[in-house]
Amino acid sequence: MVSTSSTAQGFGLDHLPYGVFSTGGGPRRVGVRFEEGVLDLFAATGRPEFDSPSLNAFLALGPQVWRQTREEVRALAESGDHQIPLADVVLHLPIEVADYVDFYASIDHATNVGAMFRPDGDALTPNWRHLPIGYHGRAGTVVASGTPIVRPCGQRKAPDEAAPTFGPSRRLDIEAELGFVVGAPSRLGEPVPTTGLADHVFGVTGLNDWSARDLQAWEYVPLGPFLGKSFATSISPWVTPLAALDAAWVDLPEQDPEPLPYLSPGATRGLDIDVEVVLNGEVISRPPFRTMYWSPAQMLAHMTVNGASLRTGDLFASGTISGPEHGQRGSLLELSWGGKEPFQAGGREHSFLEDGDEVVLRYSAPGVSGDRITLGEVVGRVEPSRP
Ligand code: CA
Repeated sequence: MVSTSSTAQGFGLDHLPYGVFSTGGGPRRVGVRFEEGVLDLFAATGRPEFDSPSLNAFLALGPQVWRQTREEVRALAESGDHQIPLADVVLHLPIEVADYVDFYASIDHATNVGAMFRPDGDALTPNWRHLPIGYHGRAGTVVASGTPIVRPCGQRKAPDEAAPTFGPSRRLDIEAELGFVVGAPSRLGEPVPTTGLADHVFGVTGLNDWSARDLQAWEYVPLGPFLGKSFATSISPWVTPLAALDAAWVDLPEQDPEPLPYLSPGATRGLDIDVEVVLNGEVISRPPFRTMYWSPAQMLAHMTVNGASLRTGDLFASGTISGPEHGQRGSLLELSWGGKEPFQAGGREHSFLEDGDEVVLRYSAPGVSGDRITLGEVVGRVEPSRP
């Protein structure tokens, strides 16, 4: 009930996202989702980059090949050949993640978290409106949708406790985000301008940045997120090419003060992607990506402005997507206001995640044909901590 309706639609010829699949315990190969099937690209084309357990070899070929291949794939999909029913395949992590960076680009999320974590200061730190804040995450624990999420253990200390204790997180949370997958690398020492997004970024995935708020609150000063985030980050099995999102670009809200020139002030374009957060089968929030403060192109430009290079398989995420309204908040931390205002879902009260809870993130966007496309959803169920 949770996910069948969203997987049945939104995967027409105007979408054609890429993923990695296997059948009957066989080798992993690259495929394209079309309607209720997977197009086996190696069987259809014989191209070696598709006889691979990740998209990376294909992504490394760059935007001209991506464009040509999209045209070929469209014709192949229409032919009906080499398509395997979705029910007969196992889907895997689509990319071999190189580096993983997570931003903090929603002003509503940053304001809410600042108000809770630093109640005596300004909600936004002085740098927030001048640069897209981010941190380097743990690439090796980016996992495919459906991977169980084991409740992490660690140090936690509530403000009214004298000393930290060790044990399972009591404040396990989600962060509904969008992930951007880098295909074409850049050279060390050469920044990528805001105009370079489509030259380097192949596409987008849904992303859930699982977060242990009690571990995070105790450890994050002064160097930022660490073990409270690094235990798992889930992404969609399907990577939606940027080319499928041509109709989804919108102007973002005005940035004030005007950012520095390398962030191309006045040209901030975002994506009109709607998100749904589903907890145990019930929609609890609808965060809108179009309300983000920093644009994907600004995140990319900022991430490389010091000369740091991009590698094929790099993944950068937007940070939690929260809109201005209560029903648009992309984390349980915000929905329950730090646990002080539990909310109702599925006939009971919730603040943070309990063992057995299942979270599904769904994403949809305007497609180039006028219909909506559905990005690959992100599913995770919480399992008890392991001693
Ligand atoms: Ca995050």
